[in-house]
Amino acid sequence: MSFELPDLPYAIDALEPHVSARTLEFHHGKHHKAYVSKLNGAIEDTAYAGQPLESVITAAHAAGDSGIFNNAAQAWNHTFLWHSMSPNGGGEPTGALAEAINARFGDVAKFKAEFKAAALGQFGSGWAWLVRTAEGLEIVTTGNADTPLIHGTTPLLTLDVWEHAYYLDYQNQRDAYVDGFLSELINWDFAAENFESDRAAA
Ligand code: ZN
Repeated sequence: MSFELPDLPYAIDALEPHVSARTLEFHHGKHHKAYVSKLNGAIEDTAYAGQPLESVITAAHAAGDSGIFNNAAQAWNHTFLWHSMSPNGGGEPTGALAEAINARFGDVAKFKAEFKAAALGQFGSGWAWLVRTAEGLEIVTTGNADTPLIHGTTPLLTLDVWEHAYYLDYQNQRDAYVDGFLSELINWDFAAENFESDRAAA
């Protein structure tokens, strides 16, 4: 059994004008698809075949199988990314997540400023994340395919800052892309689900 490219959780043009259909055609239909295809090719007839994706990520990382790790982590990170954005996104978090944001960052505006600084500060390709640690919420960045799944933290939401995520829409203006995400697309409901499920497990 092999991994399949999951459908986007919304229509291809649903995030316009902040993320265009053209960008998603390439980002989901070419880049994400390629990670899944390469992963399937790499794990065929290996001990990784048949394992859940999260297990492949942690096992490949532990074994130093960087090619398998990179494609597995990118397959996972991108699925997580699609859910981190919503056509009905933006606004403010509510409930326990809002309390945790305010406790850690002061308020939502300060969270957004810190998240933006982190996303712009990630040199080259990578990801900006809101994660939950044993101490509380944190904003972290990871380079290339790196993912919180191998760092013992629980991802709540992410933004892809690889150029392939924004170049067609914004060229080199990563700041405009990050602004559009934080003001119009950020999926607080998804973050809250991840936050609540982690609380239940803790
Ligand atoms: Zn990407």
